[in-house]
Amino acid sequence: GASVVPQAPEDPLFGLMAAFRRDTASNKVDLGIGAYRDNNAKPWVLPVVKKADDLLRQDPNLNHEYLPIAGLADFTTASQKLIFGADSPALKENRAVALQTISGTGAVHLGAAFLAKFYTPSNPEAKTIYVSNPTWANHNQIFSNVKLPIKNYPYFSAETKGLDFKGMIQTIEQAPEGSVVLLHACAHNPTGVDPTQDQWKEVASLMKSKSQFPFFDCAYQGFASGDLNKDAWAIRYFVEQGFEMFVAQSYAKNFGLYGERAGCFHFVTGPSSDAADTAVRVGSQLAILQRSEISNPPAYGARIASVILNDEKLFAEWEENLREMSGRIISMRKALKSKLDELQTPGNWDHITNQIGMFSFTGLTEKQVLKIRSDSHVYMTKNGRISMAGLNTNNVEYFAKAVDKIVRE
Ligand code: PMP
Repeated sequence: GASVVPQAPEDPLFGLMAAFRRDTASNKVDLGIGAYRDNNAKPWVLPVVKKADDLLRQDPNLNHEYLPIAGLADFTTASQKLIFGADSPALKENRAVALQTISGTGAVHLGAAFLAKFYTPSNPEAKTIYVSNPTWANHNQIFSNVKLPIKNYPYFSAETKGLDFKGMIQTIEQAPEGSVVLLHACAHNPTGVDPTQDQWKEVASLMKSKSQFPFFDCAYQGFASGDLNKDAWAIRYFVEQGFEMFVAQSYAKNFGLYGERAGCFHFVTGPSSDAADTAVRVGSQLAILQRSEISNPPAYGARIASVILNDEKLFAEWEENLREMSGRIISMRKALKSKLDELQTPGNWDHITNQIGMFSFTGLTEKQVLKIRSDSHVYMTKNGRISMAGLNTNNVEYFAKAVDKIVRE
């Protein structure tokens, strides 16, 4: 019976959130969860999202019928243009297919389920997904749930607090031909460290020579740099190189639609005479998988995104909202770095401003993380990751001083 089911550990990140809520200190600082906060540490409904929401609510024809299995067509079509570029040859040649998913998590899962079911490389060893070390913790759970073997490639250098490019390349080089490689499109979680464009080119050329399969996870387009095209650069480059690949696209951060679960899964195949056919066949199998797992995706978040993505004026407003979020985060990186400089905190803190996106890998040890929590009521994950969005003009100095204190102990 079910009495044999063991107790599972609490999810570390959601456990951290609960601990923060229990803390009664008035100066507590939440740098745990990766969700945008405004300068008052409050959740932010993007003004353009509020507008789209109001428009939808005024629509007398809005109902609660099921969406199609593949989701809202206006949404998936606009999502393809957003991620690949409106004039992408992959779209013109019908070499791409998109399904609406339960945000980015659902997109990663759909790709994982598809690979588990259909990926049959001639070398069985190639049926392995290589993920960066470290990576978003959920990657490991999602791929192991579908029994897809997982291996790591080095990514973060503890020494430079930057990319371990040599380690990354060496491992990909040694991976079997045809292996799947999971790549963070931009604003790598948890490190905030991305390859440069030249480094991406090297990764692409290496993977091409080994017929490896890129699986991009894109959770921060536009949120990282404020520029939607720049943040999609790596994906578009790989498409240009003719790869067959997957992309998991999340709208949680860039629209602030976290709980609405709006996302999209993309398949693209390289140019060939039967490419459009391949896309149709793959799409048909994805639809079967989707039907058995969720039947059809949730409507409201996708409707909001679709209203904005398909209206030129609202789209431009969205870009402004994106610049506001990314701009505030970048200014907090600068503020934190300059406070640490001012305090002459031991060590090199250049990585704070070199890293990008929601997160920064501070380099604090687990022991320091626990101590800063009990001493200063600052909450961050045990690996020393901070959510930059948790910092604001009211707490950045307090946080810098707490770091300074812990580093000197
Ligand atoms: N991938 C990465 C790398 C992420 O950081 C996130 C958000 N934490 C996701 C996927 C998916 O999140 P969601 O399911 O909320 O879109």
